[in-house]
Amino acid sequence: MRISGIGVGRGVAVGEVLRMAEPVAEPADAPRTGDASSERARLLAALAETAAELSSRAALVDGAARDVLAAQALMAQDPTVIDDATARIDAGQCAERAVFDAFGGYRRMLEAVGGLMAERAADLEDVCRRAVARLMGVGVPQVPASDRPFVLVAHDLAPADTAALDLDKVLAIVTAAGSPTSHTAILAKQRRLPAIVGASGCDELADGQVVVVDAPAGVVVTDPSRAEIDGVRAADDSSAPCAPTPGALADGTAVPLLANLGDATDAAAAVALGAEGVGLLRTEFLYLDSQAAPSVSEQTDRYAEAFRPFAGRRVLVRVLDAGADKQLAFLGHVHEENPALGRRGLRALREHESVLRDQLRALVAARELTGVELGVMAPMVADADETAYFVELARSLGVGSVGITVEVPSSAVLADQLAPLVDFMSIGTNDLTQYTLAADRMLGSVAAFQDPWHPAVLRLARLVGDAGRAAGVPVGVCGEAAGDPLLAVVLLGLGATELSMSPALLGEVRAELLRHTLAEARELAALALAQRSAADARAVVTKAARTHR
Ligand code: PEP
Ligand code: MG
Repeated sequence: MRISGIGVGRGVAVGEVLRMAEPVAEPADAPRTGDASSERARLLAALAETAAELSSRAALVDGAARDVLAAQALMAQDPTVIDDATARIDAGQCAERAVFDAFGGYRRMLEAVGGLMAERAADLEDVCRRAVARLMGVGVPQVPASDRPFVLVAHDLAPADTAALDLDKVLAIVTAAGSPTSHTAILAKQRRLPAIVGASGCDELADGQVVVVDAPAGVVVTDPSRAEIDGVRAADDSSAPCAPTPGALADGTAVPLLANLGDATDAAAAVALGAEGVGLLRTEFLYLDSQAAPSVSEQTDRYAEAFRPFAGRRVLVRVLDAGADKQLAFLGHVHEENPALGRRGLRALREHESVLRDQLRALVAARELTGVELGVMAPMVADADETAYFVELARSLGVGSVGITVEVPSSAVLADQLAPLVDFMSIGTNDLTQYTLAADRMLGSVAAFQDPWHPAVLRLARLVGDAGRAAGVPVGVCGEAAGDPLLAVVLLGLGATELSMSPALLGEVRAELLRHTLAEARELAALALAQRSAADARAVVTKAARTHR
């Protein structure tokens, strides 16, 4: 039998099934037997214990797993849920049902919003079931213990379960629920476990049954023959390290893979990971703790430190991006109601041109000391006037290669006017997404809109790609999107010519590029552009990309 689902990761595993116990049942809608105050006390104790358990699990892990568990711990103490459940107890419900109904209302609200919010509903459901299990005095279903390695099969896995998996024992995960962006998928990817989510047929699998979990193909094969096992193992390239070769697509199209750096600390490590240069050196590190602008010679030394490991290579530096969440006293802090829409980036520098001039002088001096191929770009450029201002000033101070980051939607819309003025452009997908979807990137409540897979963001990226091609100007991507392997391929299909990301992500992106030709990247891009939502674009591209491998 073959069970289909959505594969996560590139690995393949063969092993015996071990099923996770079913989640605790829905509590009966019974009236409380005790008085309201003792029932309320029971409720608060169960929620506090649930929050404490989730927090202590968060402390054992890092990265996305920690964030998810910490968010769940907060959900368990959410005042809206507590108020709602308390009111239900006061009206006569037992604590078990009161907490179940209170979380249920909250969950339905998230589901109604749809998209990524709906996927967070599963995390909420897990918190609810944990609290109900405590109130009922039954154990929360845990990942089964075994002294032999196994393939874990479950209806769904809560982040708390995925985070606590014993990687020596769990070979792969198969769940009936879930999607590519559910936390099971995100955490499985982070832990490099092959997984198949949305495999509705997996409810048929029994303990002890041998299965092959083929994540790239998105299938579980039950009771496989020897030949089937050997076949998938031979095709498994997931553990083969991808040597840090220069970035390229499957047809040989070169795609420089560059590093995003926040200071000099990671520069040498980035070279070791195969960074072919720096695509974004954020320079705020030099200014954030200063009461006054650092001197030209102090800046020169610090830039030279970051440049040295990249002698002879391209290093693109972004001048100070102050304002919004990075207010600097010496730029004259003024209160703004909406600082992200205020005097930030180039706007702030233009009012303090001496700060900008000093920075450009220091960058040119550091280039002379280290022999890098320096490019300097301005953040938050809105139109051709701002572009021309920056290009003229930077060239007059000796910068040979001058560019802009495209992160304000107006600059993407006007990219055909801007491209002929510059030597390169770099799409800042973090801010471009924030401004395109009117979703503050610092605000958790609109995080679902902060998704660079959104076709609106991709359509703007296409305008930039087209303009770059017409003007013969390279187009980089330096936002987080460049480090999402499949989205990176889509961005190349839209006309990007180089990618810059956190150095740790270079390996996965390098490996993904080698699976697609430029023509295929363009096909994926066309598919993504035609979708109605970020989730649809991601899902359609994930499915279509499988045929390229
Ligand atoms: C961006 O906005 O995509 C970007 C790279 O800049 P930052 O995240 O520093 O704003
Ligand atoms: Mg930005």
